[in-house]
Amino acid sequence: MKKQFAFAAAALVLGATAQANTGSAFYGDAPDAHHPWAVHDWNRPQPPRVEPLPYDAEKAKAPADAVVLFDGTDAALANWECDKPEGGATKWIVKDGAFQCVPKSGYVRTKAKFGDCKLHVEWAAPTPPQGESQGRGNSGIFLEGLVEIQVLDNYDNPTYADGFACSMYCVNPPLANALRKPGEWQSIDIEFRRPLGQDGKVTDPGFVTVYCNGVLVQDRTQIEGPTGHKGRTKAQVFPDVGPLKLQDHGNPVRYRNIWYQALPPRTAADVAKHCPLSEEETLAKRKEIAAMVRADAAKLADKSVDQFLRLAESLVYEKDEATAKDVCAKLGAYVAGLEQLSKSQLNAKKDEVKRVRAAFQYLTKFERCGADCAPCADLEKLVKAHGWDKK
Ligand code: MG
Repeated sequence: MKKQFAFAAAALVLGATAQANTGSAFYGDAPDAHHPWAVHDWNRPQPPRVEPLPYDAEKAKAPADAVVLFDGTDAALANWECDKPEGGATKWIVKDGAFQCVPKSGYVRTKAKFGDCKLHVEWAAPTPPQGESQGRGNSGIFLEGLVEIQVLDNYDNPTYADGFACSMYCVNPPLANALRKPGEWQSIDIEFRRPLGQDGKVTDPGFVTVYCNGVLVQDRTQIEGPTGHKGRTKAQVFPDVGPLKLQDHGNPVRYRNIWYQALPPRTAADVAKHCPLSEEETLAKRKEIAAMVRADAAKLADKSVDQFLRLAESLVYEKDEATAKDVCAKLGAYVAGLEQLSKSQLNAKKDEVKRVRAAFQYLTKFERCGADCAPCADLEKLVKAHGWDKK
């Protein structure tokens, strides 16, 4: 009985907190096997306040290879169109160098379609602030038109954690609330890697990293499918490219300085390639590299130091017995040649000898050569006899 009472009391306290925040406890999809919180759960902790970094105009500048989507000019409107009906001229306006949402005019989207990218967006909430919770300065940045990184004025405005500014809406709250005051310009920097797959099956869920005013707030957050409202969705393979969309949520949010850089394309096969290789795959690859290095050595001047060092380099990848014997014999001939030189002739070769020694020290360290190659020890003796082993 005591336990039951304690549980009931705790529930009452939690309920009171939720009520104070004007949220409803019975709203979004309920907790499930992988999510301890309901969607838009007011019991989920509010992200802690972190003071943002000062605005950095240099970092905010579009790099030379960036595609600029909005630069403050009327002409930049040509980069945007209405989302519904598709392709119509947007009703959003350019005012004082900012791209401003006209409430009830609908989402806007870029004419350009792109996938994996680094995206920079600046926005400012209306001032004076009006509305509460999700009703204040709400908009959103939809990557490929599918995943919403929330735009919201919750500088001093409690709301559910997975609806905070820079949340992956419905999915993951930001690590911190690093917002500036309404009316001030805020920067959002996003790295987006879309979900990948083959035959409709997701093999890599994709992720999003987000900085809010220079503060890391999403740290490779896994994408769980297109984001919605109140509900979870299922992971799915995203198209290669899609438009960037900005949300009309009924508030005249302003945007400026929007640009992106395409990240190197990545396919499901690329992801698989970056996984650690099996022993068999590694061995095969090492043999292939060694063969390439040996073929390269064959092209160098016969009996030159560069040639035998290049040949020795192939041992780094594959301890091929025939090559190891050949390299050792060549080193023997090289050391014997050195021993025939006059002191001044030998001194003139000091740097070359040190280079050869460094190569064979490396091969000895990684057991590609050494114990079974007597000239290695002979070379070491010669170097030490001349004090060339000292720094
Ligand atoms: Mg929104």
